[in-house]
Amino acid sequence: FILAMYESNIFRKIIQGIIPCQKIWEDTHTLCFKDITPKAPIHVLLIPKGDYQDALRFYKNASVEEILSFQKGMVAVVELLGLGKHGFRAIMNQGDYGKQEVLHFHVHILGEKNENSC
Ligand code: 5GP
Repeated sequence: FILAMYESNIFRKIIQGIIPCQKIWEDTHTLCFKDITPKAPIHVLLIPKGDYQDALRFYKNASVEEILSFQKGMVAVVELLGLGKHGFRAIMNQGDYGKQEVLHFHVHILGEKNENSC
């Protein structure tokens, strides 16, 4: 239970700078960093800086500016990591049945290594 409480707030702590992350990209509303246990050669997480538990809450309640920043952020990250040419996977897990573990909305971006990888 304590672990679950901790997990649910871990991205909040990353946004606040309390817990470090390997930052890939950010703007005012959105942050992208490497996943701590990568499931592919490239595995990053894109998150809104605002407090949204999951995708449904984000897309329902966030401002147009926040949503636009998030979508543009995905393109920026894909270009930065050189994933445009050969493609990538973008995955979001929603709720219990979606096996969402961290209760702060995030999209996983997974791809293969290439000349632009960092
Ligand atoms: P979920 O199952 O909630 O969609 O995925 C959560 C993801 O967050 C997992 O892939 C996990 O490896 C990642 N993660 C959990 N804790 C941390 C952390 O403290 N730092 C980073 N960078 N990633 C984390």
